[in-house]
Amino acid sequence: GFEGKEGSLLMLGLDNAGKTTLLHRLRTGDVRSFPPTDRPHMTEKFECNGITFQAWDMGGHEAVRHLWEDYVCECSAVLFLVDSADKGRLEEAAFELDALIGEKIVADVPVAIMCNKCDLDEALSSKEIEEGLHYQELQKMQGEENIAMFRISVLKGEGYQSAFRWVAKFL
Ligand code: GDP
Repeated sequence: GFEGKEGSLLMLGLDNAGKTTLLHRLRTGDVRSFPPTDRPHMTEKFECNGITFQAWDMGGHEAVRHLWEDYVCECSAVLFLVDSADKGRLEEAAFELDALIGEKIVADVPVAIMCNKCDLDEALSSKEIEEGLHYQELQKMQGEENIAMFRISVLKGEGYQSAFRWVAKFL
């Protein structure tokens, strides 16, 4: 849905959420697995039809926070990936989202929360994720038009197209 549009998208989320896999899929159309050592905390920028993509890990990397903060200011939208099947780290993801949105780092920048790995049986329901992320609070802080949640599976190639269509409206 990005035809003729321009902008830069910043992909954020905890490590293991699926950022590298999604970027690789966008770049090549393939799905492959990256061992933990092959997943950089920051990916190279890549451009696809006028849209620049870049991804950063959040959580446990306080030292690099100031680095990606600079990118947030410049980006047209933030894609925040969550591992829907990782109940144990939902709170950590919520903490990062709250920091991002609560501290107004992304004020005026639309945020698409992409709940990935929905293909897995143990994936949490939308309601469980909304509660875990305190989504209603985030909506209040960010403004309802500027935040949305999507269930996706990068592995199956499902759901992220809707997220991109939503984001494209802002470009
Ligand atoms: P990153 O640290 O955010 O870049 O995460 P990765 O892209 O390296 O993905 C972490 C792990 O999750 C890898 O083993 C991926 O193969 C796996 N993964 C990514 N997307 C999906 C998905 O949609 N479904 C399932 N089941 N696994 C996924």
